[in-house]
Amino acid sequence: MTADIIDGKAFAANIRLKVAKHVTNLKAQGITPGLAVVLVGEDPASEVYVRSKGEMTLEVGMNTFEHKLPADATQAELLAVIHQLNNDPTVHGILCQLPVPDHIDETTVINAIVAEKDVDGFNILNVGRLATGQKSMVPCTPLGSLMMLRDRLGSLSGLNAVVVGRSNIVGKPMVQLLLKDSCTVTITHSRTKDIEAICRNADILVAAVGRPEMINADWIKPGAVVIDVGINRIPAPERGEGKMRLVGDVDFASASKVAGAITPVPGGVGPMTIACLLANTVTACCRAAGLLEPDGLTV
Ligand code: NDP
Repeated sequence: MTADIIDGKAFAANIRLKVAKHVTNLKAQGITPGLAVVLVGEDPASEVYVRSKGEMTLEVGMNTFEHKLPADATQAELLAVIHQLNNDPTVHGILCQLPVPDHIDETTVINAIVAEKDVDGFNILNVGRLATGQKSMVPCTPLGSLMMLRDRLGSLSGLNAVVVGRSNIVGKPMVQLLLKDSCTVTITHSRTKDIEAICRNADILVAAVGRPEMINADWIKPGAVVIDVGINRIPAPERGEGKMRLVGDVDFASASKVAGAITPVPGGVGPMTIACLLANTVTACCRAAGLLEPDGLTV
């Protein structure tokens, strides 16, 4: 068997088109959705993410607001910026780029963003709402993963889903979304016994571990749909001295011989994450304005 490749790049482009259409409609009603991104410090990877988020926000016609604070900014200074954005009616989504420097408490910062503007979906209110089946902001990476699964499989009801990784930003919210879609869900982590056998029982396998190519063909049930969230940078001497390349948590070459469908890395879940951030901002904007939420941009 050779797996179908789930093209996250094309899927994400389609989501951005939908977002842009809704932004045009909102603008016709005098409302421009706005996304504010807050960055503390000068981490090069974070700067790249923030720049690319800003560019894509502009591309879909939304306003983008960037707030850069020095690495030695205090927690109080950061909270003051968030407070100001919470109260700014032109800002519909707020994202604080993680990680923040060690002297700042991440949880305090996340919970300082009002739930309605928390487009990352990490605020405790959104976590609780998602877990209890209430309307919430849904974390972007799991949301994008679920969209691709629904597109591939239609109904997920009754399928066995296994999530590898139990982080607050990917693994746990992914479990909530799969449960909401009536999967039978198993969550695994570094202490799980016989993890390979558990994974081999999965109709849907979501890998969010952060270990390069850990999951190979032997872990995969023939025909399963595999969503590889992992983004790992490994040396690529074949590309020249000191060069690196990106791989997922799944060994794509072997897994794609067994799976029914699989997301590649790069070009799978990654592009969906930013597309879903834009989608969440439009959703937040519609909710703030008391308008109907756009179809197909949230769950
Ligand atoms: P975390 O480090 O927060 O969590 C990793 C999880 O994997 C933990 O629950 C850990 O278990 C589990 N784990 C570690 N080693 C093993 C093992 N040998 N067997 C089974 N489980 C294991 O990572 P994140 O969830 O933040 O990210 C996971 C991956 O996804 C990373 O590669 C990250 O870069 C990528 N990512 C990609 C995004 C995208 O847009 N595509 C967005 C966010 C993340 P335990 O809890 O027991 O320690």
